[in-house]
Amino acid sequence: MNQRKTVYFDNNATTRVAPEVFDAMAPYLRDFYGNPSSAYRFGSQVGKDIEAAREKVAKMIGADPKEIIFTSCGTESNNAAIHSALVTQPKKKHVVTTAVEHSAIIKYCEFLRKHGYEITLLPVDADGQIDLHLLDKSIRPDTAIVSVMWANNETGIVFPIEEIAAICRMHDVLFHTDATQVPGKMPIDVNALDVDMLTLSAHKLHAPKGIGLLYVKKRTKFQPYVIGGHQERGNRGGTENVANMIAFGRAAELATAHLQDENTRVRALRDKLENGILKTIPHTVRTGPKEPRLPNTSNVAFDGCEAEAILMLLDQAGICASSGSACTTGSLDPSHVLVAMGIKPMRARGCIRFSLGIYNTEEEVDYVLQQLPPMIAKLREISPAKHGDSHRKHETHFAETTTRAKVA
Ligand code: PLP
Repeated sequence: MNQRKTVYFDNNATTRVAPEVFDAMAPYLRDFYGNPSSAYRFGSQVGKDIEAAREKVAKMIGADPKEIIFTSCGTESNNAAIHSALVTQPKKKHVVTTAVEHSAIIKYCEFLRKHGYEITLLPVDADGQIDLHLLDKSIRPDTAIVSVMWANNETGIVFPIEEIAAICRMHDVLFHTDATQVPGKMPIDVNALDVDMLTLSAHKLHAPKGIGLLYVKKRTKFQPYVIGGHQERGNRGGTENVANMIAFGRAAELATAHLQDENTRVRALRDKLENGILKTIPHTVRTGPKEPRLPNTSNVAFDGCEAEAILMLLDQAGICASSGSACTTGSLDPSHVLVAMGIKPMRARGCIRFSLGIYNTEEEVDYVLQQLPPMIAKLREISPAKHGDSHRKHETHFAETTTRAKVA
C-alpha cells in the first residue's frame, strides 16, 4: 500500500490502531496462540488475559465485567440486542427506533418488518433531534425494545440518552443504545445512563476491526445471536478473537486517558477547520446545530457541489474525508440521515463529514483549509447544477429517493 503522507479526517469511519494497542495484541498473534478453552496452561492463561481485557472495557463504561459480551463488531452487537429483545419476549412484535440510525439498526429493522414485526422509525427535526413526547406516545404494550443511538456517525449530533432511558423505564420497556461513536469522546457510565444494552465497536477507538461488545445489564434476559460453543459465558459462540479482545482492553484504557485531549485540543482543531471553511468558502453551511455534538465531528454542506467530486479532489491531495451518504457505486442516493433532517436532496448531495482524532495536528487543519477553497471554486465552475437539464434530472431522482427513504 502507498505510504505517502495522508491527512486522515475520517475517524468516524475507522481509526488508526494505536501503537500501544498493537504492542499489546501482537504477542497473542505471535506467541500465545493457545485456545482459551483448553485445559492446559498455554491455553487457559490466554483465557485469564481475556478476562483482564474484559475488566478494562467494563471499567471504561462503568459496567461489571460479567455484563460485557464480546462480539465481532458494532453491527453484530446492534443486531444481537434487538434479536434478544424479540426472542425473550415472543409476544411483543414492535420495535421503536429512529430514522437516523446506522444501517446496522435500520436494515435489521427492515428485515424484521419483512418477517412480520412492526417498526416505528421516529422522525427527527432540523436539529437532528427526536421529539421525546412522540417517543413516549410511540411505546405500546407490545413494544419489545426501543433502540436509539447515542451519537450520530454522520453529523455527530448527540441524543439525550438519559432522558430517553427514563421514558423507557417508565414504560418498563427495554432500552438499547448504539454508542459506537462515543468512547474516547464523551464519558460513559452505563449505570448513570440506566440503559439495558449498549453497543461499542473497537475500531472506532484505535483498536483493530473485527471486535465489538454488547453491554447487557445484569438480570436482563439475553438470548445469544451467534449460537455455538460455551464462549462468553454461553452468550456468544465461536472461538475467541483473542488478540482483538486484548487490543480492545488496551484501547479502552487509552480512550479514557484521551477524553480530555478529544474535548480540548481535538475540539479546537475541529472548530478551527469548521469555522475556517464557513468563513472562507461562500455558500457553505454546517449540517445541524453546533451543540450537542461530538467534539471531533463536522458535517458541512458545499452548495452547488457534489460530495463525490469533492472527495475525489481531496483524495488527490492526500486528504481522507467522507460524504457520510449511503452512496454506493452507481447510486446517487443522498444520506438518509440528512434527508431525515429535512435537508433538501440537492444540498445533502454536497455534504462532507470531517471527523478528527487524537493523531491530527494543526498543520493538517491548515493544509485542508488551504487546499479546499480552490477545489470548491473549481468544482462550482464546472458544476452540472449550472445546466438546467442535468439539474432537473437530479431533482427528479432525489424526489424519488426521498420518498423511498421516508417509507423505509
Ligand atoms: N453504529 C454506528 C453508529 C457506526 O458508526 C458504525 C460504524 O460505522 C456501526 C454501528 C457499525 O460498526 P462495525 O463497523 O463495527 O460493524
